[in-house]
Amino acid sequence: MYAKRLDNLPPYLFAQIDAMKAQKRAEGVDLIDLGVGDPDLPTPKHIVDSLCDAARDAANHHYPDYLGMLEYREAVASWYLKRFGVKLNPRKEVLALIGSKEGIANIPEAFVNPGDYVLASDPGYPVYKTSTLFAEGKCYPMPLLEENNFLPDYDAIPKEVVSGAKLMFIGYPNNPTGAVASMKFFDETVEFAKNNEIVVVHDNAYSEISYDGYKAHSFLEASGAMDIGIETHSLSKTYNMTGWRIGMACGNEGLIEAFGRVKTNIDSGVFNAIQKAAITALTGPQDCVKQACGIYQERRDALVNGLRSLGFNVFVPKATFYVWMKVPDSLEFVAKMINEAGIVVTPGTGFGVNGEGYVRFAITRPVERIREAIERMNKCGIRG
Ligand SMILES: *Cc1c(COP(=O)(O)O)cnc(C)c1O
Repeated sequence: MYAKRLDNLPPYLFAQIDAMKAQKRAEGVDLIDLGVGDPDLPTPKHIVDSLCDAARDAANHHYPDYLGMLEYREAVASWYLKRFGVKLNPRKEVLALIGSKEGIANIPEAFVNPGDYVLASDPGYPVYKTSTLFAEGKCYPMPLLEENNFLPDYDAIPKEVVSGAKLMFIGYPNNPTGAVASMKFFDETVEFAKNNEIVVVHDNAYSEISYDGYKAHSFLEASGAMDIGIETHSLSKTYNMTGWRIGMACGNEGLIEAFGRVKTNIDSGVFNAIQKAAITALTGPQDCVKQACGIYQERRDALVNGLRSLGFNVFVPKATFYVWMKVPDSLEFVAKMINEAGIVVTPGTGFGVNGEGYVRFAITRPVERIREAIERMNKCGIRG
């Protein structure tokens, strides 16, 4: 009755963790959930107001344009120019997405034939692999190792994999490691992709969530990136809009056109009122983003300092709202944290085989809860 492709999907690791959480909640434990990559902060008021106004306008109640309203694509282009100095043609180089997950899930349909290789960061956002499997491609995990600053080593990929590869997924600032990439790395990526005719998808979901004065780059800033690349970004993490489902794919005209043809046959675009609110977000005041980063930075410092005081080896992220930490055994550590301290963190193995030996903390809870988590770990004798 069921399609084989469902059997090919990796086992849902989180089912096991969900069961542990449910058990603890049933026992009345007050869980501190640092597992979820979903901001706890609300969407800024001026964006919500904009949606309410647009939702009342009957002109917005119809099928949206497949590619996104021109006005929205223009707002994206002007944001890219202002933020990254990247010039985009809103008509041909910008596409509205129903969140970047939708883009990542559908992009392989446009570029991958059955049996083609897709190179994907490992650890990485799980959809890189599952979208490859849905397109009947073969996923080659590119290990993100600490000794390479969690960047892939293109020279380490076997020749036959490189020659059979059509597409690659990377993303910096990185979920789950919190690592960032330099322009030099993006330049090397362009060179590798051009030499081997590989389409690059750069997942830039966290470009705006950064600390200590660090400003993330767009992959499209790299010279030649517009020839072979698509960058996905979304309003989810930047403006606390995960539930709204709006993002963008920008890049090479031909690639955007091909991907747009796939989308035209799958979805019917983003609700116009949401696009209007997204225009307000992208073109309006950006102090809300700065404020959110300030809040995350205080939480990051509380968590990193706390974990270090307990003797753990943690990486201090310059960007993203994740803290990646070394542990002897991912799942065992996660189980101990839930069962003994009532704290939920994500095992690195949830992001691929190379995530073994790490766990991810999401700083999507108030700083008081993070301090409480450290105290609980201390009391329970969970130390590095
Ligand atoms: C959150 C996230 C996304 C998806 O975000 P959308 O809400 O679908 O825009 C994509 N990639 C990474 C790495 C993420 O963490």
